[in-house]
Amino acid sequence: MSINADITDTGGLNSGGPVKITRSTKLAALPQPPYGFGNYFTDHLATMRYTEDAGWSDPQVVPFGEISLHPSAAGFQYSQSIFDAFKAHMQPDGSLAMFRPDAHVSRLNRSAARMCIPQVDPAALIRLIERLCDVDRRWAPSDPGSALYVRPTIIATEGFVSLRPAREYLLIVFLSPVGDFFAEGSDPIRILASDEFVRAARGGVGSAKTGGNYAAAMYASREAADRGFSQILWLDGVERRYLEEVGSMNIFVKIAGKVRTPPLSDSILAGVTRDTVLKLLKDNQVDCSEEPIAIDELFQAHEVGELDEVWGTGTAAIISPIGRIAYKDKEVLICGGRSGPTTDWLYKKLLAVQKGMDNDPYGWRATVPDSD
Ligand SMILES: *Cc1c(COP(=O)(O)O)cnc(C)c1O
Repeated sequence: MSINADITDTGGLNSGGPVKITRSTKLAALPQPPYGFGNYFTDHLATMRYTEDAGWSDPQVVPFGEISLHPSAAGFQYSQSIFDAFKAHMQPDGSLAMFRPDAHVSRLNRSAARMCIPQVDPAALIRLIERLCDVDRRWAPSDPGSALYVRPTIIATEGFVSLRPAREYLLIVFLSPVGDFFAEGSDPIRILASDEFVRAARGGVGSAKTGGNYAAAMYASREAADRGFSQILWLDGVERRYLEEVGSMNIFVKIAGKVRTPPLSDSILAGVTRDTVLKLLKDNQVDCSEEPIAIDELFQAHEVGELDEVWGTGTAAIISPIGRIAYKDKEVLICGGRSGPTTDWLYKKLLAVQKGMDNDPYGWRATVPDSD
C-alpha cells in the first residue's frame, strides 16, 4: 500500500491512537469538471486494522494504492463487508465541511452489527476521516453541484474457509471528487417498477449498506437499462405491492399535495438524505408522513390527476426527480416529465445547507480542521 511515500508525520489524536500520516511524494494532477461520478481518486487513503487482540488500531493516512488480500478473505468470499458514503463541500469561506458524518458513521456501525463486524469508535473514525480530508483538501471541488465523496469501507480480511464471522478486518476510507450521479444530470429519470425481482427480503440485510445488496440488484438493473430505464423501482418482497426504494435511493411521492415516503423496515436502507429531507419539509410546514405507498395507489392518483411529484433521495444523487414510472404494461408521465416545485425547492435548499449558503440549525455541517 505504500507507494511513492517518504515523509511521515503524526497528528495528535486523543482516542483511537495517533493517526500516522505518510504523505505521497507524487501528487496527481487535479481533474477538471465535469467529474462524473467515481472516476477520480485522491492522493491518499485512510486505513485502520482490527484484530481480536488489539481491537481497531493503527489509524493511518497512506498514499493511495492497491491493497492485497488473502485469496480466502471472507470479505469477498462471503461478502462480509460494509460501506457508507457521505460528502464534504467547499464553503464560501474556503473551509471544507462534511455533511452529517456522525449520522453516516453511526449507520456504518448499524451495518456492522448486522454483518457481525466489530463496532468502530465513532469519534476515532471521524477524526481519521478529518485527517484524510485535510491531507487531500486540494481535491475538494468548488464548482456548484460537485463535492468530495467520502467512502468508508470495512472488509473481513482473515483468510479461512469455514462459515463464521472473521477475526480480522481492514477499514479503508477513500475520497473521490464527484459531480452528477446520473447521465441525465438533474433532468427527471425514467424508472421501472419490477414485478419480478426484489432487492431485499423481510428479515434480510436490505437495511445494511453491504455489497451483496448491490450485486443482488444488478441483474434487474441491467435489464431495465437495456429497456431504456435508468433505475428500478423496488417493491416489497412479500406482496410485491408497496414501494420500497428506487435504485439506491429512498423514494418520496407527493399525492394531492401531501408528501409521503415509505416507513423504514429491515428491507429499506435508512437514508440520511431521507432523514434530512423529512426534517427540512417539516420545518417548512410541508405536510409529510412516513406511510406505505402501494403501486396501484400511485397509478390511481395519476388517473385522477393527483400524482404531483415523485423523487429519489441519496447522498450520491442528492434529490433526483422522477419523470416517468412504468409498471407492467402501463407508463405514466409525472409533472409533465419535468422536475416539480417541491423537488426543486428541496434540491436547492439541501445544496444551500450543504454548501454553507443557508443556516444550519441542526449542526449538520462539520468543518474539517485545518492542520496548517
Ligand atoms: C446509500 C443508500 C441510500 C441513500 O442513503 P443516504 O444516506 O441518503 O445516502 C438509499 N438506498 C440504498 C439502497 C442505499 O444504498
